[in-house]
Amino acid sequence: MTTFRITDPSPEFGSITRPATSLTPLDRAWPAPPLLLPSRSITATRGRRTSRRRMHEMLRPYDAGMQLTPVEARVLDSIDETALVQNLIDLIRVPSITGTDAESELQNAQAGQLRDAGLSVDAWKFDLDALRADPRFPGTEAPRTEGYGVVGVTGPGRPALVLQGHIDVVPTGDLDRWHDGDPFSGRIEAGAVHGRGACDMKAGVAANLAVLRALQGSGVLLERPIAVHTVVGEEDGGLGAFGTMLRGHTGDAAVLTEPTSGRIVTACAGALTFELDVTGRAAHGSTRLEGVSALEAFLPIMAAIQSLELRRNVGPHPLFSDYPLPYPISIGTVRAGDWASSVPDLLIAEGRLGVRLGEDPADARREFEIAIAEASAADPWLSDNPVHVSWPGGQFASGRIDDDHTLIDEVTSAIMTLNGGTVPPRRAAPYGSDLRLYSDIGGIPSLHFGPGDVRFAHAPREQVLIDELVGVTRSLALLAVRRSGAHF
Ligand SMILES: [Zn+2]
Repeated sequence: MTTFRITDPSPEFGSITRPATSLTPLDRAWPAPPLLLPSRSITATRGRRTSRRRMHEMLRPYDAGMQLTPVEARVLDSIDETALVQNLIDLIRVPSITGTDAESELQNAQAGQLRDAGLSVDAWKFDLDALRADPRFPGTEAPRTEGYGVVGVTGPGRPALVLQGHIDVVPTGDLDRWHDGDPFSGRIEAGAVHGRGACDMKAGVAANLAVLRALQGSGVLLERPIAVHTVVGEEDGGLGAFGTMLRGHTGDAAVLTEPTSGRIVTACAGALTFELDVTGRAAHGSTRLEGVSALEAFLPIMAAIQSLELRRNVGPHPLFSDYPLPYPISIGTVRAGDWASSVPDLLIAEGRLGVRLGEDPADARREFEIAIAEASAADPWLSDNPVHVSWPGGQFASGRIDDDHTLIDEVTSAIMTLNGGTVPPRRAAPYGSDLRLYSDIGGIPSLHFGPGDVRFAHAPREQVLIDELVGVTRSLALLAVRRSGAHF
């Protein structure tokens, strides 16, 4: 039994505040990252040496080239591609950076769009204090005073499929590095929609809505309901997914439409945000030997981190075959000193520690803390002034769907029906996502399949190809038709 409430959250939502953007003209051409290689077709692979996994994929009884049924054709014909692209542009134009008023505003708009599409909508304000008090709380980094959940369903009952997307985006970085100085333009160029969030993951959010609009607009009847979840706070830990799971929303399976470049992502590494406090001793720069530079004290710590990273990346799971470094330990910020001619007495470094598939985050934290403690003990200054490690931000465990879960075959089949029979590669992603909250806390087997190339995510010139957006939307619609048992 699924219960869904309909509440009107509108009065509580804040208003959009667009950050100022500079109008710096383009003076450099930023090369786009190369698109990932397309998967080899069965025919193209024939006659070559083939890995066991590839052979396994090839021998599965997929319905490649299968004709669409009249119901499937009706729903696919009902996808409004113009509205899909326009909706993506509209989404990009709201600068819904994690934790901002604009994020709340965009959730409000999503609730309205889902209602307009004929769905029953549960839109609610999170009890942030209660969520933060839960021992499983995934952590946050962005300042936040409110947050909202939005779930739309086509009807009562346990949904056969959940399509999920986050509407928050990361900040823009240096505006001069954006093609037109405006990361929120939603400009179309060379067959791609550009802007912060274009691929991570407003394209996925737009695709999810387009699927539900097509289902509802086609007039077909669904045996089982389909749900759409839009969430906030994915980028700094997963507050929105956490709140949505604790609200009790469920389903048989979920597709998180994060950018996957045509792959099916069945597992995600985790990521733990850490902070290192390194102390030094201040002195005038002219007598620096009287002091101890916190920056120099950090150098053996950095070396220890690099050596730990090497050790943690030995023999990764074959699903990570595309990634030379599946579990990076990356320092994101370093702040030291407060005056040019003073020896800095404090350095604060923040970063992220990759969590291996299946690894308990507590074990990853312990291994990191031991490495830092050992490096401190081996240093004359740090042995008396050990580096302090804390874990102040997002704490993403790893997550994965069972290798033999039917959802993987069903997504594969939907893709192959529409692409002429090319087997989509199956991979893992090196970043943390909502996947582990849906599978671990919600008990909803989940995978990623969505439009866009993740190498544009969080980067300047973020973009998504319109053809890819449409293609993925069609595959998702076909999946939804089949899982819902749609009929005339
Ligand atoms: Zn994302």
